Amino acid sequence: MPTDVQNARWVCLECHWIYDPVRGDPKNGVPAGTPWEKVPDTWRCPECKILKCKKGVFKRLED
Ligand SMILES: [Zn+2]
Repeated sequence: MPTDVQNARWVCLECHWIYDPVRGDPKNGVPAGTPWEKVPDTWRCPECKILKCKKGVFKRLED
């Protein structure tokens, strides 16, 4: 099965926290099941607080 964009995980290159769409980030207003593209640009990494919209910070994980 090819990697589905909807289920792709993304890693924060600042702190190595991983965003998993299956879990989302409910504490910060992102419900479980939210694909990365639907996470608001104003969302911040829960670990290092960097903004999602900062370029080059988050990288898609290739499974
Ligand atoms: Zn981070």
